[in-house]
Amino acid sequence: NLQSTTTLHNGVKMPRVGLGVYKMEEGNDVKDAVLSAIDIGYRSIDTASFYKNEEGVGQALQETSVSREDLFVTTKVWNDEQGYEETLAAFDRSLEKLGLEYLDLYLIHWPVPGKYKDTWRALEKLYKEGKVKAIGVSNFMEHHLEDLLKDAEVKPVVNQVELHPRLAQPELRSFCEERGIQMEAWSPLARGKYFDAPILEELAEKYEKTPAQIILRWDVQHGIITIPKSTKAHRQKENADLFDFELTADEMKQIDDLNTGERNGPHPDEFD
Ligand code: NAD
Repeated sequence: NLQSTTTLHNGVKMPRVGLGVYKMEEGNDVKDAVLSAIDIGYRSIDTASFYKNEEGVGQALQETSVSREDLFVTTKVWNDEQGYEETLAAFDRSLEKLGLEYLDLYLIHWPVPGKYKDTWRALEKLYKEGKVKAIGVSNFMEHHLEDLLKDAEVKPVVNQVELHPRLAQPELRSFCEERGIQMEAWSPLARGKYFDAPILEELAEKYEKTPAQIILRWDVQHGIITIPKSTKAHRQKENADLFDFELTADEMKQIDDLNTGERNGPHPDEFD
């Protein structure tokens, strides 16, 4: 169920399914979506300073009757906030907007060349001070991780990347798995772009599920944390209703075979 967690390499437990809130409007829109998700049973919320909706997320966290220690809140340091001092200041801004005393997970949003190592030192400091329970990265490829790990005192717990059946990232997944870094999928549904892929439709029919649920179940069975986004309660419910069926090894393989390496978002070496 939605309270089902994965234990990160530092012992922190993170829900396997969370709510992504990218593009939700600051204020009531994001607040209502987060409250509806919490009501359904979501405990993990993924935001970022870049999304400009941390205040609304924070309002929902204040209003809910679910206690702070049962919630898992992730935010990210944006590209123009990177650097050691800049990141420390960005963290304080995010925490204040969220109205929180600590964060569960803080991520480097993109590997800004020449900056991400200083940014990481700031995350290590925040972690050691107990202001954040776990620190990780996003959009890091193998070469970024190798470079970071050379000097890191604390190993990233998570790498959140674009990941869905057409961009299954098998090499990066093995690389991270070998190092105890948990993979997390952003745009897990590829925003619905290929729900009509025959294998997804076929399995949806077989299990009386939707293609979205087939994809998210594939994440869960691969041990990938997933954070589908929806503002609509019925879809939030749908995206969480993943724990009453199981894909066979052969079906998993057939979904794996959708991999073409096709990205919808920017390449981590070419973003700006
Ligand atoms: P997604 O793959 O989660 O797709 C979301 C869209 O798919 C929704 O807007 C809706 O149109 C549709 N949808 C959702 N559930 C559906 C369902 N059950 N049936 C039919 N359609 C459905 O895309 P996303 O929002 O890009 O990614 C999820 C989260 O990942 C974001 O909200 C954000 O938190 C995170 N993210 C992180 C990065 C990063 O660089 N770290 C980048 C993009 C997104």
